[in-house]
Amino acid sequence: MPTRRELLVSALAAAAAATAAAAAATGPLALAVALQNEDRAPALPKGAVPSPGLAVEPVQPVQPARWWSPLPGREVACGLCFRGCQIPEGERGECGVRENRGGQLKTLVHSRPVALNLDPIEKKPFFHLLPGASALSLGTAGCSFHCRWCQNWEISQSRPEEIPVPTRTPEEIAALALKSGAPLVACTYSEPTVFAEYVLDLAVAARKAGIKTVVVSNGSIREEPLRELCQVLTAYKVDLKAFSEKTYRVMCGGELKPVLDTLRRLAKARLWTEVVTLVIPTVNDSDAEIRSLARFVRDEVGRETPLHFTRFHPTYRLTNLPPTPVATLERAREIALAEGLPFTYVGNVPGHPGESTYCPGCKARLIHRVGMATVANRLRKGACPDCGRAIPGVWS
Ligand code: SF4
Repeated sequence: MPTRRELLVSALAAAAAATAAAAAATGPLALAVALQNEDRAPALPKGAVPSPGLAVEPVQPVQPARWWSPLPGREVACGLCFRGCQIPEGERGECGVRENRGGQLKTLVHSRPVALNLDPIEKKPFFHLLPGASALSLGTAGCSFHCRWCQNWEISQSRPEEIPVPTRTPEEIAALALKSGAPLVACTYSEPTVFAEYVLDLAVAARKAGIKTVVVSNGSIREEPLRELCQVLTAYKVDLKAFSEKTYRVMCGGELKPVLDTLRRLAKARLWTEVVTLVIPTVNDSDAEIRSLARFVRDEVGRETPLHFTRFHPTYRLTNLPPTPVATLERAREIALAEGLPFTYVGNVPGHPGESTYCPGCKARLIHRVGMATVANRLRKGACPDCGRAIPGVWS
């Protein structure tokens, strides 16, 4: 019986081999294997054989962390996420991937992606960003939250030494994206905040290669690192998990206010932003909470912000609740539309009309999506071809 660690190593090797194969094949057939309903990392295939070309390093290399400050007694204060961990020498922060070595904060996950895959950009989901494009997607071990419904808990709640992986430098990732024909690199699956140094270096390397970098995040990042990332990123997706401090605290081990602050800062920085809320029965699905959330997005992020209400499926530590009824998602969408958010979507319900983009002016369907696939895009230079109304997004 393979151990969890052996399965993870096998999975990474298989995922890397699949990515290489997809890169070699390029085209819709290669991407089709990556089509899933949610932004999950590749599943762990039992019995997968590691590729001989992928030697893993048993000792975790470290690199200097960027955002921290020294404290008396050789402690350090991490300045990356809302927690602001004060870390004694030899110990790690809450995310498990940043360690105090000799009074210096180090990151253990720079250039150490534990999942690497070609995904459609709609899977993140980004709906107003290069529709139909593929994104070379990666994530490392570690997370600043502990959500009970995490679909990628096997990597987000792991420590780096539990998943020994080959090094992938930012330049190698950019080259792999180029080779695969993907115009985007997506930092996703776990929590890019905790590997922000890698995100920053990746985005610089990708930009030199003409490739855009996007982040899929819980929004827990602090102001200074976010400001630096905004200089090099193309888009940011924030999971707004609820509109309740209690839900954040009890269900995620997080806090709502820092996430709202991040959304305000993204709006101020004018970085393209989309917001996603996984609607979970009895947790965050009341009309009042949905309405408050929609009003915040409208008033503080912008009324043209895409807002995605996605369907929950029982997983990890939240298996006692049923999948979200489709009617609940439709009601959430109706509330947000009525509050003045014309780009509100239903997600994880393949084939639902609420997956598509409609012109707020003449109501014509502009981008037809089925599942995670864009099947038709009628936009002309970012505008409705029927009434000429400009549609916000990153279209080229
Ligand atoms: S990134 Fe990690 S170490 Fe830094 S404050 Fe957040 S949880 Fe703590």
